[in-house]
Amino acid sequence: MDAAVDGRSLWLIEAAKTVLNTPEVGFLEAKTSALVGQKLNELGIAHESGIALTGIKGYIRGANPGPTVAIIGELDALRITGHPYSDPETGAAHACGHHGQIGALLGAAVALSAPGVRESLSGNVALIAVPAEEFIDIGYRWGLREEGTLGLLSGKQEFIRLGQFDDVDMAMMVHTSSSPEDARFSLGGTSNGHVAKYVEFIGRASHAGGSPEHGVNALQAAMVALNALNAQRETMRNEDAVRLHGIISAGGTSVNSVPADVRYEGRVRGRDFESITDASAKMDRCLRAGALATGAKVRIVTVAGYLPMLNDPVLVDMFRRRAGDLVGPARVAIQPEDRNRGGSTDMGDLSHLMPAIHPYTGAASGGGHGVDYLIDDYDQAVIRPAKAMAMMAVDLLSDNAVRAREVLAKSPPRMTKAEYLKLQYGRMSEELYEGK
Ligand SMILES: [Zn+2]
Ligand SMILES: [Zn+2]
Repeated sequence: MDAAVDGRSLWLIEAAKTVLNTPEVGFLEAKTSALVGQKLNELGIAHESGIALTGIKGYIRGANPGPTVAIIGELDALRITGHPYSDPETGAAHACGHHGQIGALLGAAVALSAPGVRESLSGNVALIAVPAEEFIDIGYRWGLREEGTLGLLSGKQEFIRLGQFDDVDMAMMVHTSSSPEDARFSLGGTSNGHVAKYVEFIGRASHAGGSPEHGVNALQAAMVALNALNAQRETMRNEDAVRLHGIISAGGTSVNSVPADVRYEGRVRGRDFESITDASAKMDRCLRAGALATGAKVRIVTVAGYLPMLNDPVLVDMFRRRAGDLVGPARVAIQPEDRNRGGSTDMGDLSHLMPAIHPYTGAASGGGHGVDYLIDDYDQAVIRPAKAMAMMAVDLLSDNAVRAREVLAKSPPRMTKAEYLKLQYGRMSEELYEGK
């Protein structure tokens, strides 16, 4: 298998770099998705496309029946103006290194397509390219939900809702990192969960110089709200890892008119449901306070975000060994279970439904989500993760899938799909508050 990947290494790295040069944000990854489809075709791997708009799912089917292991790559970029590889029109840029994941996913496909591999497998490997991991453009995605195109607002969430993980028993992916703490590979730890807020402050336009007394200033409402939010920070406990942050996504239209339509896209993160629920209620109070102070209205849409990541300990141990074979055991870091990276991923959602891992590969430099985040070691971003994931799949599914069955026996799911959907739909809400 390693020889097959090495033989295709230029092809794989070229694919990753093509994705880097074609950055597209979530649910709009048309060209990236088409590229993945074309590469799977070149490998002769049958697949379905257009799942959750741009997602792809193919299979390597083993000779014997057994569990299904998913290998996942994320298709999307985010918007980081000024990144050297940003799209000048959309601002989209691969400032989270997901292009490396696409190379690694294709590399695992190459490895598992090597002669003799399928014959050794009892079970299947699902190769999944998911849209929209970055939880952005919430107003746009909420619009897609209102028209019935989406149910949940991220790629893996939608794959779960659509039943695309119903036939999958466990899942893995590898994300790039630039943190020295992550060594060459890094395993374990956890991430924050979150909810998103899509907020419209609705005021009344009037001449900003001639008759401001007739206007209701939606931007002032937003400023009061954000200052009130800052006043909440002393109430947060460090151990809850709460992060409250957001952007003004529309701040007015003409400077000589009192701004009447101001949009805020916010995020409430925390280590567990209790801390997120508490902080979310505080954010709502602050948003209403802005409307109350100015006499504006505020529409608050709360969107179910991600669940904290649960890395499966047996899968962690298996990946640790395979990663150690590739880079030496001393260069594989194991993070304590409670080490919270602060960010969030929808792999956390999946990890509540099945055993899953979300390791990191130290292949990048610069700050994640920053203008200087670049993959500078493509062997470590693409080739070694591909080999590690393919070997993991073989380890799990060979010998009548004895290891995969052991993982499943030791790690019953935290929740069923029905429980998950109920939880997530229960975290969606919408209100219109009139400040008067
Ligand atoms: Zn990211
Ligand atoms: Zn990412």
